Amino acid sequence: MEHYRRLLPPDGILVAVSKTKPPELIRQAYDCGQRDFGENKVQELRAKHEVLPPGIRWHMIGHLQTNKVKYIAPFVWLIHSVDREKLLREIDRQAAKHGRVIPVLFQVKIAREETKFGLSEAEYRDLTEKYKAGRFPHVELRGLMGMASNTPDKTQVRGEFARLKALFDELRRELPRIDYLSMGMTGDYEEALAEGANIIRIGSGIFGARN
Ligand SMILES: *Cc1c(COP(=O)(O)O)cnc(C)c1O
Repeated sequence: MEHYRRLLPPDGILVAVSKTKPPELIRQAYDCGQRDFGENKVQELRAKHEVLPPGIRWHMIGHLQTNKVKYIAPFVWLIHSVDREKLLREIDRQAAKHGRVIPVLFQVKIAREETKFGLSEAEYRDLTEKYKAGRFPHVELRGLMGMASNTPDKTQVRGEFARLKALFDELRRELPRIDYLSMGMTGDYEEALAEGANIIRIGSGIFGARN
C-alpha cells in the first residue's frame, strides 16, 4: 500500500478495493493504517461495515441500484458511481431521511467499450446543471470518476483520462468543493496519476487476484 500512497498527491486518497475479500484481510490492512476501502456490491458493503471498525471510510464504487441506496445511506463516505439522475434523486431522498448530506462523484463514461457504465457527456452536463440549480440539497458533488478502456494501448488510456481531467478542471471553476478525481486501478493507475487523478482505486494490486 505504501507504494501507491507515495505516488499520490498529498491530499490524495488510496481506496483499497476489497470486493470479494474477507473481513479478516480488510482488518489486516486497517491495522496497517489503511482507512479507505471500496466495494461494488451493496450487500457485501453492508455486511463488512457491520463487522469492521467504525473508523473505516467506505466507498461505493460499483453500479448502484436505486432500491438499494437505503442500505448504505446511513454510513457510506463517498459514492463514486452516480451514473443517472434517478439514482441521484434517490441518494438525495435517503440522505434527507438520515439527516445527512452524502458526498458523491459523477461517473462519466470515458471508455470506448459499450459495456461500461457512466454518464455520457451530454447527460453529465444536464445533471450538473440540475445539481447547480439546487435540485439535490442533501447531496454534495465532490468530483468525477471514470474508468478507462481495458486495453494495452496506453496512449488511448491516457487520452481517456485526460478527457475526464478536462471536465474536472472545468467543473472546479464552476463549483466549490470539487476536489476528487477518481480514476485508475491496478492496471492503469500510473496513467491516471500522470493525468491528474487524486483518488486511485486499487484491488488486486493490494489484495491479490480475485477468483
Ligand atoms: C474492481 C474495481 C476496481 C479495482 O480493480 P483492480 O484491477 O483489482 O485494481 C476499481 N474500480 C472499480 C469500479 C472496480 O469495480
